[in-house]
Amino acid sequence: MTSIPTITLNNGVEIPQLGFGVYQVEPDQTKDATLTALEVGYRHIDTAQMYGNEAGVGEALRESGIDRSEIFVTSKLNNGFHRRDDALKAFDGTLDALKADFVDLFLIHWPLPTTDVDYLETWKALEEIYATGRAKAIGVSNFQQAHLQRLLDEADVVPAVNQIEVHPYLANDSLRLFGVEHGIHTEAWSPIAQGKVLEDPTLVEIAERVGKSTAQVTLRWHVQRGDIVFPKSVTRSRVEENFALFDFELSDVDVAAITDLDKGERTGPDPDTFDYIPS
Ligand code: NAD
Repeated sequence: MTSIPTITLNNGVEIPQLGFGVYQVEPDQTKDATLTALEVGYRHIDTAQMYGNEAGVGEALRESGIDRSEIFVTSKLNNGFHRRDDALKAFDGTLDALKADFVDLFLIHWPLPTTDVDYLETWKALEEIYATGRAKAIGVSNFQQAHLQRLLDEADVVPAVNQIEVHPYLANDSLRLFGVEHGIHTEAWSPIAQGKVLEDPTLVEIAERVGKSTAQVTLRWHVQRGDIVFPKSVTRSRVEENFALFDFELSDVDVAAITDLDKGERTGPDPDTFDYIPS
């Protein structure tokens, strides 16, 4: 079976560079989709409280028969649970839903900088969770440079990752580089821009030349840039296709050409203004 490279996070924890994301996977489909990914060989699952499907991930982990220590599981704190006590309770809810004693990585999903709860309070709650050992690593998602700087200045633990939107139309390089400078690894969400980049002429040309699909070329671009990715699909053939990234390499010229496609185009919300709190 293909061996997936791992990345060592700033606290020594190892994470497979390629995982499987379950955003927008229906709760009743999540067990089967996750089992398919595990059968194909994925050993890293990215879920979140907001996705409503942690229980399905947990069922798949147990049913797969694979030792829990071989699978890396990430979940994320939902918006609306940013106060300390709410965050601690919500984390217990994640473990209950997964029926697990720990997660490998737990993130603040969004900074919500315009709301009345300070993400520093939320981060300190995650530090408390981390101290109990029930999250092997903690990190953030959708944090901009100013938000990261504030944690670096005022918190004790440096986030292990920042999970942000990155794809060929949103290279997000200054934020990625800031992470590199401070030991905060970038995880690239919506790595194929939810399919929007797949017909790009530059990607089509490279894909035809190297004999791969545009999805594979795009995911390989992320891998060669050193980011962690977890494409989502509920279609087995695509789950397999997205896993087959380690039998070819892009030239530096092709990597640069794909990076040049950047046009600052988001598929998701702007983290500086996003303030959605589920009712
Ligand atoms: P993605 O870029 O992985 O694209 C998924 C879509 O592309 C799916 O609808 C699928 O039908 C299609 N697709 C997948 N593989 C394909 C292939 N080989 N060929 C053609 N089409 C294909 O988008 P995503 O699901 O938004 O992002 C991936 C993961 O990132 C999520 O599942 C989630 O885990 C994470 N995420 C995190 C945040 C956050 O705020 N932290 C936000 C969005 C996504």
